[in-house]
Amino acid sequence: MYLARVRSAGGPPLLAATVEPNLLLPLHWLGVNGDDPVTVLGALGAAELASRIRAADVAPHWLLPADEVTFEPPVPRPQKIVCVALNYVAHAEEGQQAVPEEPVIFFKPPSSLIGHGQTVRCPARSQRLDYEVELAVVIGKTCRDVAAADWREVVLGYSVLNDVTARDMQLVAIEKNQPWDHSKGFDTFAPCGPYLVTADEVDDPGQLDLTLTVEGEVRQQSNTRNMVFSVPKLIEVISAGITLEPGDIIATGTPSGIGPVGDGEVMVATVSGIGSLRSPVQYERKLVDVA
Ligand code: MG
Repeated sequence: MYLARVRSAGGPPLLAATVEPNLLLPLHWLGVNGDDPVTVLGALGAAELASRIRAADVAPHWLLPADEVTFEPPVPRPQKIVCVALNYVAHAEEGQQAVPEEPVIFFKPPSSLIGHGQTVRCPARSQRLDYEVELAVVIGKTCRDVAAADWREVVLGYSVLNDVTARDMQLVAIEKNQPWDHSKGFDTFAPCGPYLVTADEVDDPGQLDLTLTVEGEVRQQSNTRNMVFSVPKLIEVISAGITLEPGDIIATGTPSGIGPVGDGEVMVATVSGIGSLRSPVQYERKLVDVA
């Protein structure tokens, strides 16, 4: 199932499922209440929800065209967004960073989350905004000290996350051996979506193509098989001593090809089988023309 949280005609967020390409069925028509897919899937289970959708006698006027709704983040209230740094060898090398021997993590605040189609805003204090396409893993149950072999038991589904970065600020932080949280934690710096794709739709999260385009030009292209640490290993290491809660997001790291995106340009981050996340960009202060 491809679940999304959408607003139609300025109304409240609705939980909806994609029933045909670009057509969404709000689930309240099926008597499913609430807009949080984590709560709904936790209560009903993915199989029961899927069978209710299959059995529904859908009236045409229930359906919403995807291009006529506003997408909200697929998970409304994660307690935390755990990000993995330097999880692709070629990306570590392009930043002249050593490939880590253990996963390196940092956090983005939940306040940085925005949905598909919403504008990423570069704060006035930065003059270089970068994209980073990443596979996002959404946790489905409260868990701690999960063995890598048990990873499937705690994964609710997947999405696409763009780990937007004020690169000029981050490079200063790296030089001073300071944390990255500030340069990666601004409002709008975690576009996520469009969908929460339930775990049953994905055989192997370690075999997914990743692409990022700016104005239609391919800037990043890789596959999750090139991760240094796989999804099972990341869950094992991150949950060792940190409780993960339903709705928490793990952003699994970006491949090489990072670079800036300009004022007025549009980024599209795609993970095969998961979705294409579109994000227009606005700089609060225009880039200085140094030519
Ligand atoms: Mg990243």
